[in-house]
Amino acid sequence: MNDEEGNRTGCVVTARAGALFEDGRVTSILWYRRDLRVHDLPALQAAVGAGPVLPLFVFDDRLVHGRWPSANRVWFMLESLKVLDQQLRERGARLHVRRGRPEEVIPALALEAGAEAVFISRDYSPFARRRDAQVAEALGARGIAFHAQRGTLVHEPEHVHTDAGQPYSVYGPFRRRWESLPRREVSGAPGEIPCVAGVDAGKLPDFGEFGLAEPAPEISTPGETEARNRLDGWAAGGIRGYAAGRDMLAAGATSRLSQDLRWGLLSLLEVVERCGGSGDDSAKFIAEAVWREFYHHVLWHHPRVLREPFRTEFAAIRWDSDRDALEAWKQGRTGFPLVDAGMRELLATGHMHNRARMIAASFLAKDLLLDWRLGEGHFMAHLVDGDVANNDGGWQWAASVGTDPQPYFRIFNPYLQAKRFDPDGAYVRRWVPELANVPDRYLREPHAMPHRVQRESGCLVGVDYPRPVVDHQMARERALAVFSAVRTEKAAPT
Ligand SMILES: Cc1cc2nc3c(=O)[nH]c(=O)nc-3n(C[C@H](O)[C@H](O)[C@H](O)COP(=O)(O)OP(=O)(O)OC[C@H]3O[C@@H](n4cnc5c(N)ncnc54)[C@H](O)[C@@H]3O)c2cc1C
Repeated sequence: MNDEEGNRTGCVVTARAGALFEDGRVTSILWYRRDLRVHDLPALQAAVGAGPVLPLFVFDDRLVHGRWPSANRVWFMLESLKVLDQQLRERGARLHVRRGRPEEVIPALALEAGAEAVFISRDYSPFARRRDAQVAEALGARGIAFHAQRGTLVHEPEHVHTDAGQPYSVYGPFRRRWESLPRREVSGAPGEIPCVAGVDAGKLPDFGEFGLAEPAPEISTPGETEARNRLDGWAAGGIRGYAAGRDMLAAGATSRLSQDLRWGLLSLLEVVERCGGSGDDSAKFIAEAVWREFYHHVLWHHPRVLREPFRTEFAAIRWDSDRDALEAWKQGRTGFPLVDAGMRELLATGHMHNRARMIAASFLAKDLLLDWRLGEGHFMAHLVDGDVANNDGGWQWAASVGTDPQPYFRIFNPYLQAKRFDPDGAYVRRWVPELANVPDRYLREPHAMPHRVQRESGCLVGVDYPRPVVDHQMARERALAVFSAVRTEKAAPT
């Protein structure tokens, strides 16, 4: 990124990194945020190229207790920071830790360490943009340079634009342009990281200090080392069958790399380069990964989406306010086995299969007619990969209010989705154990089980497993009526 782009993006960049190298050795701080790795990290490469480095993480209470607090993400982040510290130590450096507001802590530390520059990987959320602008300003007032580097995305939001220089709001043309752009080279990890000496490293806090709930029991192993093992396995063959299997709920056919990308344990560029190939599986995988880039692009150009629908006509929808239904959805007790399986997978693992996310989100917004922002918040509370751009994009898509959404009249039928994407019921049986012995023919609609079969399968409907909270057909008609009152598309015949 050059100076001009930096100014346009609100991230003040006081000099090109290259200029530093010409001037001689410069001591710098590498401020880690959501990029907790040493491989393919341009900010680290630039800092090491400039001179001694002080790697830093700042615990900012707004991240831990802000709009979307999450015990799962804080736990995963803390454990990943421990691994990052090990990675840095193996290369002669170590992680320094501070607590407080970055715009106060970082300039103070720069003075203490004699640092003349701070390097970061760019971040794109409205919160991050404000924060980084404040830090850049505070540093600038003391003559310290602030260098925002690539590293989180493959292509920066400003670089993917229409021929007329406009941002995209439809995924297909965005992807085609994205694919046509040249990519930078993937870099390895530096063999050695010259570290600033004599500055107190501080200490990583214990998880218990934050007063958060217990993390979910089955979260993926944190840290860059394990993330790289996952990528190795995926690139070496795991990806085979992705195109055909990615929607099958019990197939385990997706990469499960989303938390690694969320926390920058892997760079998406490296993932794309290693998984790119000529076959259908590679093409489909990269096309899915581009959704991540697309939603960051949308958030960058339209930060308002974190508060309101992209398509403002849908702001007029009159959502229902049934708190019991919301609670049933959150707990995975709606009486719709597939919805419940997804919601319980989320509670147990901090992850949910993409198809299940789509079904559960559609169910909240259409069947329960509850404001999608309630679901967005619940997902953010639990997802280890919880990412404001992707999550908001996914929710606005499912609720038919976003940039390139599911048309409002296409309402997922949870029974048909189960038939298609969980044909033998393995996903439902895994996550809703009280249905484990229900015969196949009743698994999608346990409330239709004769009383005798309920007794034989050890699942009394209304006691062990709830009756459906809504009638899907009636709920569908209600959603169509409410959405069509504010719609712009034409309803398809049903
Ligand atoms: C309502 C809803 C909310 C979502 N919230 C998030 C979220 O907070 N964070 C998040 O990373 N993904 C989110 N997604 C997208 C998607 O469900 C997950 O990225 C995917 O399930 C992660 O599993 P995986 O790594 O095995 O995916 P794979 O299929 O292996 O995909 C590889 C990578 O591509 C990216 N990706 C794939 N699909 C999408 C997509 N539709 N949107 C954005 N990126 C995508 C992810 O980084 C993912 O890790 C959401 C989807 C929906 C419908």
